[in-house]
Amino acid sequence: MKVYKFGGASVRDAAGIRNLESIVAQTLQSEKMADVHDYAHDYTHDYAHAYTHAHAHDKLIVVVSAMGKTTNALERVVAFVHSGQIEQSLGQLNDIRDFHIDIIKDLFSEGYQFLINKVDGLLENIMSLIRKDNSSMSYDELYDQIVSYGESISTQIVSYTLNRDGYSNSLMPMQQLLITDSTFREAIPDMELSRVAIENYLSTHNDELYIAQGFIGGTNDGRRTTLGREGSDYTAALLANMLSATDVTIWKDVPGILNADPRLISNTQLIERLTYYDAVELSYSGAQVIHPKTIRPLENKHIPLYVKPFMDPSAAGSVICDTAPKINIPVFIWRKNQVLITVRPKDFSFLLEEGLNKLFEVIHHNRLKVSLIQSSAVTISVSVDNSRYLAGAIAELQKDYKVSFNEGLSLLTIRNTTSQINAEQSKNRVVLLSQTTRHTAKFLVQD
Ligand code: ASP
Ligand code: MG
Repeated sequence: MKVYKFGGASVRDAAGIRNLESIVAQTLQSEKMADVHDYAHDYTHDYAHAYTHAHAHDKLIVVVSAMGKTTNALERVVAFVHSGQIEQSLGQLNDIRDFHIDIIKDLFSEGYQFLINKVDGLLENIMSLIRKDNSSMSYDELYDQIVSYGESISTQIVSYTLNRDGYSNSLMPMQQLLITDSTFREAIPDMELSRVAIENYLSTHNDELYIAQGFIGGTNDGRRTTLGREGSDYTAALLANMLSATDVTIWKDVPGILNADPRLISNTQLIERLTYYDAVELSYSGAQVIHPKTIRPLENKHIPLYVKPFMDPSAAGSVICDTAPKINIPVFIWRKNQVLITVRPKDFSFLLEEGLNKLFEVIHHNRLKVSLIQSSAVTISVSVDNSRYLAGAIAELQKDYKVSFNEGLSLLTIRNTTSQINAEQSKNRVVLLSQTTRHTAKFLVQD
């Protein structure tokens, strides 16, 4: 079993879907050859071993995100619905429809009506939800019921296209198979229930190729959930963990994991091999290349994660695994959209542990994501990702503390840095807070 993941950028148009198809086709081809080879080789020694070995390799699950910027467009639909602008929400849905229909027409010169009807059926589900009285639903629940359709539509198109081109596959309904709690927009999967549901599904379908929606799941009582923005990587890792896959490949529009964002720094270098620990550090610091939650399910089962360029499938890319040489080039990572919150007690008492406790309790239940912490005797400063829960958290903190905050910040982390690099990077920037250790520097700067 192998797991592939294609993000929104790789399926943003017909050419992208054709490219996905050719990567899948090559993989199926080479897997078959590998199986025949193993089988022939092992047959004389141990038939049973050869048999299980061949079967361990013969499935491929392709996890697909919503096409292009569809998730953002669906977020706009939710905002319109929530503020009662029904006409606008339907207009936005219509744009989403046009975007997908154009791709379908680009893929097929004829015989696509069936697929258009399928897409319309999915959009109709959203429309009937919009027309219904949904005032009892929280914003987050409404969000998941609508935004999750981006992946339902994209996988419908990918699965249909591959089937039509002779790559027979089953479309896994992840809203029924990845069973989660009801923490909408950040749902937590139930690994045991999901594993049973997924194994059941696979054994009744018994295909060699499966297409699955990234990012989405569902509660036991049939409501749709999502795992958080950019969560398709996480889906791929969860599937790999539950099914003990041999490896996972994330196909991206970059050559692999680089030491900096090529849009921000020239002469970037590829990091060919890194440990799970390195990868967690990078993604926590803000590296966009993989979703932070992706690593743990893979590390737990020692499943390697490849990051490869979808425009050049034979390139080596990067691999994340148990061991790797120490990274010895400077690595620059930006975590954008930060807010620095500083709290101090109202009565000049010291904060100490009790204060820390209260502060982090508020941060935790308001789902804020912390990127940096600094404390002194009477203040604690935390940098967090800006989010729609921020205002509520600040209001809560103001009951106990004097609170000040700065928005519009970015956190720059430099690993394997030098004092010269630190000086270069902080020059000409407004640095609100900095932390340096021997090899790592963090600067919270104004955008
Ligand atoms: N479509 C979702 C998003 O854009 C999930 C993903 O792309 O991984 O956030
Ligand atoms: Mg995406």
